[in-house]
Order: sequence, then structure tokens, then C-alpha cells
Amino acid sequence: MMFSNLQRTEMKNKLSATTLDLIVIGGGITGAGIALDAATRGMNVVVFEMQDFASGTSSRSTKLVHGGLRYLKQFEIKVVAEVGKERAIVYENGPHVTTPEWMMLPFYKGGTFGPFMTNIGLKMYDFLAGVKKSERRKMLNADETLKREPLLKNEGLRGAGYYVEYKTDDARLTLEIMKKAVEKGALAFNYMTVSDLIYEEGKVVGVVVNDLIDGTSHEFRAKKIVNATGPWVDELREIDKSKDGKMLQLTKGIHLVFDSARFPLKQAIYFDTPDGRMIFAIPRDGKTYVGTTDTVYKGDKANPKMTIEDRDYVLKAIDFMFPEVKITADDIESSWAGIRPLIYEEGKSPSEISRKDEIFVSDSGLISIAGGKLTGYRKMAESIVNLVANQLEKEEGVTFGPSQTKDLPISGGDVGGSTGFVKFVDEKVKEGVSIGINEADAKMLVNRYGSNVDLVFDYYKEYSDDINLNPVVFACLKYGIDYEMIYKPSDFFVRRTAAYFFDIKWVTEQQENVIEFMAKEFNWDDKRKETYTQELEQLIYDATHPVEEE
Ligand code: FAD
Repeated sequence: MMFSNLQRTEMKNKLSATTLDLIVIGGGITGAGIALDAATRGMNVVVFEMQDFASGTSSRSTKLVHGGLRYLKQFEIKVVAEVGKERAIVYENGPHVTTPEWMMLPFYKGGTFGPFMTNIGLKMYDFLAGVKKSERRKMLNADETLKREPLLKNEGLRGAGYYVEYKTDDARLTLEIMKKAVEKGALAFNYMTVSDLIYEEGKVVGVVVNDLIDGTSHEFRAKKIVNATGPWVDELREIDKSKDGKMLQLTKGIHLVFDSARFPLKQAIYFDTPDGRMIFAIPRDGKTYVGTTDTVYKGDKANPKMTIEDRDYVLKAIDFMFPEVKITADDIESSWAGIRPLIYEEGKSPSEISRKDEIFVSDSGLISIAGGKLTGYRKMAESIVNLVANQLEKEEGVTFGPSQTKDLPISGGDVGGSTGFVKFVDEKVKEGVSIGINEADAKMLVNRYGSNVDLVFDYYKEYSDDINLNPVVFACLKYGIDYEMIYKPSDFFVRRTAAYFFDIKWVTEQQENVIEFMAKEFNWDDKRKETYTQELEQLIYDATHPVEEE
């Protein structure tokens, strides 16, 4: 399997020697899903991602694989039913990245939903999403609710709905899907921008790509080209001169992260904001994170920033629901901002716009996909690849079978499904401890890497004293370089380990040694090393410094 920037030249040679069926532009979860679906059906497919994989919206979400309970309010029954059912599939195919999380939906005197509506709503959710018995909703009275989460506002509390959602690591989910696609024969490059499209007789037949690592440009041709660039979808449609009819509406959402010593939330909560929206507060790895906002966005797509207004909106919402915590801006440890690529709907406010996905096929044959959720990635991919397969059948007379991904574990997911995973963790943690890793680290590694953890353990065993890194950090970094296409320090700190979000202090402690190690691995000159160091420092600064205006 070739998925390492140390093998970039070999990967490019292989690409040049391949007759491509499909080029996918964009390496977020949508592009990764399409690559996996296409590769498993036998198509020759390549993905070009201009930044790192998942560094667009797919690492900046609320990190939930969820059915979108709130969409019931808008009577989007089909979205809830389809996406709701997908949750279980995403979970089964990668229990190391997706975990059930009981969510509490408190209701208050005079609130939008009383116990009756909450009960009906959650029952409908269970039914639509086909929720298994052990995970069906329960209704709690006020005492039971407060027992589960004493920090909730007492006044007017009448009870809560209690139901299961799934939490995930969005960036790692994207990567594990991409790794599986590569294992099945796809090629996938990060730091490769598609700067132009190539046409013949009015039909799009290829792309011009710029390699941002070595500065070279190349042309690649394929039978079909899919634009899965999320917030950038309209930019490609503009190049294609097909940006007409429906267009994107970008909206921004931010999240704040607190240490649980300061905001000791025990229980995930989905709650009303003073202005009638709903946001999440979720405990995770010794931290509590809260979000999100939903405001129209017109700024830089690659680097959306949190404004003071965004920050204060979330702080106010926390204060409204958890008044005893007395949260302040100084308590914020980290934050992130992401952009939703929604389809514009006349006269609707950001949070009213549908999250459903849509496919556009232009006169030139460029296929664009936008909208949707992390959760529905597999179904979106299936629809796109069905479309491509049908076109190829008509035009070339070749046939490809149906989608193969429903029961296909993603990379790291060969752990015997959700039931097998418990035993798997037990055994592997013991194995980790037996080679000298402490139990907490062993658990973290097994949960992060799933069935790929053996390779990480092997690196741990290879560690020698002349390496100026903690052995566990070394094992993760080396695995990430050799098997997960790490190139820049932020690839490691933000998207391979999520430390930037949930352990930013660790990032500042490790950054110097990690960068030193990477500079040797990749032969960086001083200038490059300096640039990447500065990029990371800027990110660290941005996490706690909101801007005045976008
Ligand atoms: P992206 O992840 O943005 O990927 C597109 C990629 O294309 C980018 O990486 C970009 O660099 C690349 N690209 C662009 N132009 C080019 C080019 N010319 N050449 C090469 N590459 C290019 N969904 C859920 O299911 N659960 C949630 O909890 C949830 N919460 C959310 C919270 C927020 C605040 C936001 C913003 C979204 C949330 N979503 C959630 C939605 C979900 O995150 C998105 O639907 C999903 O990540 C979109 O993925 P994508 O691959 O389409 O786009």
C-alpha cells in the first residue's frame, strides 16, 4: 500500500502509468468516500487534495455521527431516516473511530419542546433511524436529569430525553476511509491543487494539478471527473463555466474547548440557546467542548477564524444553561471554526437551510457534489459512483457491480465489529503493556488505531535512545509518516492526533522535537522548516485569539 509522502515519487510514477476511470477533486470525507466506493467496485481512481486530507470542513465539525434530531423540527423526515440509519453502519465498520454516546436533551418550563413532544420526537427518531433496543430513548424526570448532570440550570427544569448519538474523530474517520480506498487500489495525494480543467470538444477530460510540495505541474486525464471540494465546489464550477442554477451558501460554525477541571461536564447535552437554536456540550478526553454557531460566511475558506462575536455567543449559551460554572473567555483552551457547504435556499436563515446533499452534472460532464453530513458520506459516495458507473456503462460498455461498502470495515476497523471491539481492546492493551507501554497510552493507541495498532507497536519496539522523542510520540509520528501521508507538522498535531483540539498544551510541549524529527525524515531545508513552524504557531495562536471581524 502506498500512502506516504516518502513515496511520493513512486506514487506519481504509478499515477502516470495508470489509465484513470475517475479523478476525484477534494480529499474531505466526501472525496474519501467516493474513492473507497469506486476502488472497491474496480475503478481506477485518484484523489487530489490541495491541503491535507480532511483539513477543510471534515476536521472542523461537531464530531458527531448523528441523525440530526433537530431536523425533525423542520420535518425533514427523509434526511433523518436515511442519515439515522447510516449511524449504525458507520459505527460497525469502524468502532475504533466512532463510539456511542448517550445524549441528554433537557426540557424546561416554557421551552420549545415539552416532555410530550420530546418523547414523541425521540420515539420517531428511534423508529426512523431503526435504533436497536438497548439504545432506544428513555425519558428522565428532573431529579434523574440533575443526577446525570448536576451542572444544568435547575430553574424550571422538567426532565430530559435521553438517547444515543455517536461521537467520532472526523479527520481520522476521513483518513481511515481514504486508507481503505488506497488499500483497495486508489491513489490519493495531499498538497496537490487542481488549478484547471482540460476539455475536448466541450467535455471535461482531465485536470491540471500543481504539486505544492515540489512546485511541479502535471496534467492527468480520466474518463470522469468529480468535484467533491465542499466549500470550494462553486470555484470549480466557475472554472467549468457551469455555476448557474443552484449555488452554495457557506455558513460558519465554531466550537470552544475547556479543561474539564474548569467545566466538569459529565454528560453530553443537546440544549436550547437563548435565541432558539440548539447546541452541543460534550465531554471528551478530560475536556469539554461546546458548539456550534451558524452564521453566513464570505471570508477565506481555507482559514476560517473565530470572531469575538462567535466566541461570546457560545459563552453566553453556556452561561444560560450552566450558570454555576461561571465560564469566562479566559477559560478557553482551544477552539476551531469550520464552514458548511450548504445549498442556498431563498429566504431561509442559516440554521433553517436543509443539510441534504445534491449532485450537479454540468454540460461538460463535470459532476459536483455538495451539502450533506459526515454521517451520510457512504450513501453520498454510493450515489455518485452509481452515476459514474451508469455513464461508463453507456459510453464505454463496461460494467461495474453495485456498491460494496455497507459491510466493509474501514482501515483499522478489522476488530470484529462493535461487539468484537471490546475484546479486541482488552487483548491489545495487554499486548501494549507487555512491550512496556503504560496502560493509559496503550488504551489510547488501541482506540485510535484499531486493527492497525500492531504497526504502531512495531515502531514502539524499534525506538532507540538517539531519537529525541517520547517513544509513544515517535511510534505515532512514524506510523503517520509511513502510512498516513503526514507531511506538515499540523497534519500530525491537528488531523492525525486531534491534539490541537483536545490537548493543545501537549502540542506546545512536543512541537519542537516533532518538527526536528520531521525535518530529518523529509530533508527539509531551513526555510521550509521555518515556514511550517510558523504555520503551526499561527494555528496555536488562532485557537485562543478570536479576531474582531472576518
Ligand atoms: P471538505 O471536508 O471541506 O473537503 C473538501 C476538500 O476539497 C478540502 O479539503 C479542500 O482543501 C479540497 N479542495 C478544494 N478545492 C480544491 C482544489 N482545487 N484542488 C484540490 N483540492 C481542493 N456533519 C456530521 O455528520 N456531524 C456533525 O457533527 C457535523 N457538525 C458540523 C459542524 C460544523 C461547524 C460544520 C461546519 C459542519 C458539520 N458537519 C457535521 C458537516 C460535515 O462536517 C460536512 O458535511 C463534511 O465534512 C463535508 O465534507 P466534504 O468532503 O464535502 O468537504
